[in-house]
Amino acid sequence: MTTPAPTAPAAPKYIFITGGVISSVGKGITTASLGRLLQSRGLSVTVQKLDPYLNVDPGTMSPYQHGEVYVTDDGAETDLDLGHYERFLDQNLTAHASVTMGQISAAVIERERRGDYLGGTIQTVPHVTDLIKERVRALAHGAHLDPPAPVDVLIVEVGGTVGDIEGQAFLEAIRQMRYEEPRHGTLAIHVTPLFHLHATGELKTKPTQHSVRTLRSMGIQPDIIISRSDQPADAGITAKLALFCDVPTEAVIPLETADSIYRVPAVLDQTGLTDLTLDRLQLTPAAPPAGRSIEDWRDWTDRLDGADRSCRIAIVGKYVELRDAYLSVREALIHAAAHARARVDLLWLQSDHLDRADQPEIAAALADVDGVIVPGGFGARGIEGEVAAARFALTQRIPYLGLCRGMQNMVIAVARERLGLADANTTEADPETPHPVIALLDEQRHLTQLGGTMRLGVYPCQLQPETAARRLYESELAHERHRHRWEFNPAYREQFEAAGLTASGTSRDGALVEIAEVRDHPFMLGSQFHPELKSRPQKTHPLF
Ligand code: GLN
Repeated sequence: MTTPAPTAPAAPKYIFITGGVISSVGKGITTASLGRLLQSRGLSVTVQKLDPYLNVDPGTMSPYQHGEVYVTDDGAETDLDLGHYERFLDQNLTAHASVTMGQISAAVIERERRGDYLGGTIQTVPHVTDLIKERVRALAHGAHLDPPAPVDVLIVEVGGTVGDIEGQAFLEAIRQMRYEEPRHGTLAIHVTPLFHLHATGELKTKPTQHSVRTLRSMGIQPDIIISRSDQPADAGITAKLALFCDVPTEAVIPLETADSIYRVPAVLDQTGLTDLTLDRLQLTPAAPPAGRSIEDWRDWTDRLDGADRSCRIAIVGKYVELRDAYLSVREALIHAAAHARARVDLLWLQSDHLDRADQPEIAAALADVDGVIVPGGFGARGIEGEVAAARFALTQRIPYLGLCRGMQNMVIAVARERLGLADANTTEADPETPHPVIALLDEQRHLTQLGGTMRLGVYPCQLQPETAARRLYESELAHERHRHRWEFNPAYREQFEAAGLTASGTSRDGALVEIAEVRDHPFMLGSQFHPELKSRPQKTHPLF
């Protein structure tokens, strides 16, 4: 009898997702949804974002420029789309999932200085494009894992829109990969908007036609067009797009704006996108692992409708004009609401508008709320308003959840209210405060560089017995993601304990306070980490 030759693992397949005409058409949600759909057919999938900007990462960008900075377990500061990928795929991503042109450029220059290209002139093609392809293939082959483990499919989303100067090298690298990978090895999906013209009541396809033309001029013919619109698109529209863009009609997929992003996977599955993708990439589906079928996903999204009660939560933060700045906080609340079969109404309050508010003004702003959340933030502006909100929640016994800066401000509020330290502050707001209850970590004091130097990524947190934190986590240990410089000042710990503020979560050696809670309050808890980054649809975060 002959033993069958061991079959080499199949080469990973690549799906490239580009966007046309304008950003914010839902490319990230489409990417995340397709990932989930392929998982539902038993395939192993991961996702990578290519961002064309020249920053190494978005860590130093203002939230107004960029929205939320999403932090991975391994401490990479990344685009908020990675949050969508993690939530939809229920997968912890790593720094490898986020590639920026800044990183690629820095790596090329570093190689040049080392002498790797000795004698050569360094050019976008091939040096920059080679490096891009290297990063893409390395992730698909799981080169960072021990032992390396390839995925069945890597979905690569290109940030920005086709035609942007910055994105050209990424598109050129994709063109090359389409040529180099085996037949049926890659798929190009273009996501573009259909504009509704009020005057005539029509949906206009011309912007999409132009965008596809631009894409084709770069050597990439899309296999599938996902056509986003706020109104339903009829068969005439899809036929027209098919004709002008040289794509079969069944590969023009209309995607109308959904009332919840979480409905998109099921909607896309119904359009036939999953089957089409499997067919084009010649992938063989299998039974998905437990909890990963599309029915499981739908069971969860059904909960979005089933609310039989509602609650009103104030989010008092610095960047509330830009909702994307607190994207993960909002999503975590949606998950928690679905879990509790409730509806959450959010009241967004800009904290720096409350910086000089007196008690009655704070009371008016927070009238009728069932809970207060103070999320993350940086810089002095807004801190006084947030402390005032925390102090109001403390004295009025309103449930309060502080996320990173919200924990720090809660500590300041307790110091002022209960320790009689009227000048207590964080040295972030007042470097000269006589009572620095929140202060810089030693290693943060001597930094000369701002990019990538915060306390970042996952750290274990020891949960103390007989505390709300321990009860909620139902565990002795949590692993949570951080992004901050300042910390609870241990010099004040005993004073706080005596006043009812306890360190219910600490670093493993007990030195750092990771969670603080007010014992004699219905619920007042703050975490030095960002629990919102780990909430998932089917796995609501205990603190939310
Ligand atoms: N600015 C604060 C710090 O750096 C809080 C940071 C945050 O909320 N992520 O410690």
